[in-house]
Amino acid sequence: MTRRIAILGATGSIGKSTLDLIERDPQRFEVTAVTAATNVEALADIARRTRAKLAVIADEARFKDLQSRLAGTDCRAAAGAAALVEAATGESDLVIAAIVGCAGLGPVMAAVQAGRTVALANKEALVTAGALMTNAAAASGSTLLPVDSEHNAIFQCLAGSSKDDISRIILTASGGPFRTASAETIASATPAQAIAHPNWSMGAKISVDSATLMNKGLELIEAHYLFGLQSGRLDVVIHPQSVIHSMVEFIDGSVLAQLGSPDMRIPIAFALAWPERMATPAQRLDLASIARLDFEAPDLQRFPALGLARNALEAGGAAPIVLNAANEVAVASFLAGEIRFADIARLVGEAIDDARFDAPRSIGDVLEIDRVTRARTCAMMKASCP
Ligand code: NAD
Ligand code: MG
Repeated sequence: MTRRIAILGATGSIGKSTLDLIERDPQRFEVTAVTAATNVEALADIARRTRAKLAVIADEARFKDLQSRLAGTDCRAAAGAAALVEAATGESDLVIAAIVGCAGLGPVMAAVQAGRTVALANKEALVTAGALMTNAAAASGSTLLPVDSEHNAIFQCLAGSSKDDISRIILTASGGPFRTASAETIASATPAQAIAHPNWSMGAKISVDSATLMNKGLELIEAHYLFGLQSGRLDVVIHPQSVIHSMVEFIDGSVLAQLGSPDMRIPIAFALAWPERMATPAQRLDLASIARLDFEAPDLQRFPALGLARNALEAGGAAPIVLNAANEVAVASFLAGEIRFADIARLVGEAIDDARFDAPRSIGDVLEIDRVTRARTCAMMKASCP
């Protein structure tokens, strides 16, 4: 039986790694739908290559361009938010959620409500809508398969264990490009320095998040919702080699870890083949040449974003939405050269201090808190944000 796959965010880093695996095993998979934000040329190329039935461009102004590029194929072109939801909820056995940011929330939530199995890379969707999404999954019977390497590692280590048997989860973090840099150097880091991740090759936004350690903070919140543990049982340790992708400590003192080379095709393949396994071309670990695995505590002074995220997790309610929205806007401005690296965490902190929102009761509430926070953060920067 072939497995039918819908890929949301097919043109991105996770999307490309997913396509690489699918195209190596064409008998096993059938791509049904593919989506992208603005890159019509890349999307049309992917749709033609995979013989997808539906290609969706988020930017409605590019619909005609997409349609003409798909002329003569069996692939239908569509555009806009409703079409993204259609791609997420159409016939498929697995939805790869690989849009970056809260922009992915609508389609991911729709897939969850439709009871789809979702391979979740789009952590911002779960960070902003956590309880709403896990409740919707419980109600619809949807399964969330974590693709984020840490959460995928934890999922593998848990292997169906009872929550009562877990004493804590230990998320590993590489420490990013500024792990050993001074606070002064970090404050004035350039976008090029920030996206030069030592171990992983990823999209620009998550690369900056890895440099501030906001990524690890978002992952704490993601772990809370995926595995149902409170903040006090979620630890972070810096592990510069990125060989151990995370660990679970059980009540008997046993610690299980998942190891592998830093290649996202490993966790993506886990989700694509789940509950089976599939071969990947990922480099095998050569522990003798790696020789040592190092660990250190994170430094919350130089990397305040991690502390802000933990506080948002503990505060609950709207705090994770505000944290995420302010961070998305600040990271975009940093990448555009408009603010300094140190301003990212400062702006997120100020946005959280200023926020007075009730806890969201619906996805509409989440999107409204996101919208208002983006506008306020833009105003704080006096920048012209999209
Ligand atoms: P990316 O920037 O390389 O790709 C993002 C994809 O989302 C693209 O296809 C883009 O067209 C689409 N997109 C962007 N904005 C959109 C919008 N407004 N509407 C619709 N589509 C939009 O990002 P990435 O590195 O592939 O990351 C994707 C997600 O996976 C992020 O949430 C990230 O945190 C998570 N993730 C990525 C990695 C990695 O190795 N890249 C690892 C773990 C988790
Ligand atoms: Mg990760």
